[in-house]
Amino acid sequence: MQKAIFIFGCACMLVIDIYGQPKNTWKGKKAAVVITYDDAIDQHLDNAAPVLDSLGLKATFYVTGFSASMRARLKEWKQLAVKGHELGNHTLYHPCTGGPGREWVKPDYDLNNYTIPRLLDEISATNLLLQSMDGKTKRTFAFTCGDTRVKDSSFVSLIKQDFTALRGVRGQMHTIGQVDLQDVDCYVVNHHTADQMIAWVNEAVKNNSLLVVLFHGVGGGNGLDVEVAEHRKFLRYLKEKQNELWIAPMVDVADHIKEWQKKYKPQQANRKPMAIDSLSTPAFADVYPATNTATGLDKPESYRAGIPVLTVGIGNSSMQPGSSSGERRFLFCSNIPLFPLHTAGKNYSENNSSLDKMN
Ligand SMILES: [Zn+2]
Repeated sequence: MQKAIFIFGCACMLVIDIYGQPKNTWKGKKAAVVITYDDAIDQHLDNAAPVLDSLGLKATFYVTGFSASMRARLKEWKQLAVKGHELGNHTLYHPCTGGPGREWVKPDYDLNNYTIPRLLDEISATNLLLQSMDGKTKRTFAFTCGDTRVKDSSFVSLIKQDFTALRGVRGQMHTIGQVDLQDVDCYVVNHHTADQMIAWVNEAVKNNSLLVVLFHGVGGGNGLDVEVAEHRKFLRYLKEKQNELWIAPMVDVADHIKEWQKKYKPQQANRKPMAIDSLSTPAFADVYPATNTATGLDKPESYRAGIPVLTVGIGNSSMQPGSSSGERRFLFCSNIPLFPLHTAGKNYSENNSSLDKMN
């Protein structure tokens, strides 16, 4: 059994290694950065866009269709798309869920007073408005105030097919395999300094992650603000680090993530962890189709059907990949119950030549 654990551990190490360092994850860069601006306010046109354009950086502006700035300066908003920025959908009227701490939400635009059809109509109308401005039918959406429900009903599944990605407001960053395109996390700027924002970038580079930054006010226009000088310093830093960063609008990055996940990440429907013998201690890792090839073991039917599989040898201590001895088990899932990684790591370091044999 110990041998089986060892082989299984090696297989896991192999998977994690492959998964952690896939090629072309972020177009050959160490991390991806998406710069976003919410609510379509004048300061985006006056203080943000000129800096972006002077540096040649492309961002996503999550436009509230009927904002005061859109009504007064529609042509200038249209120009943002001409310059290569994404006009993202942030509804027409920016409804949010009211309540304690949200006293500023007007009753007419409180999601507690909306219906799902009304909200869907508002989002569709905004898509049409933005299409009339940039001619595009593909774009991303940002949840207003991060809200995903009308009263108690989630509307996420009703709009997901209309957008390449949906952005939330939770401050986290993830690797390409971990990003949830229906709830893309982001860091909300609230009087942060450039150095604080730069620390996020450095963390993203360190972890090969996607960093999404959300600005509201830039030199005013919203309580969630950033000073013009800090905003400029931050963008300049991004420009300087461009050899390490893929900086692009959300729609482009999301498209890339979608393709990558389609290719390498097993579908949710196949995520059925299967207990094998006493291997019940859960630790999870995603699995590449390539893993199967790497171990050289037989491919089960579902693998040939395109479902990624990790194959693991159990039982026979003399078993080697490709041999006919030993019992083979196939795990048809992406999140596989594994041994605690320290166990796998210990075995690996004690005798890593066996991993070479498996490779
Ligand atoms: Zn907003």
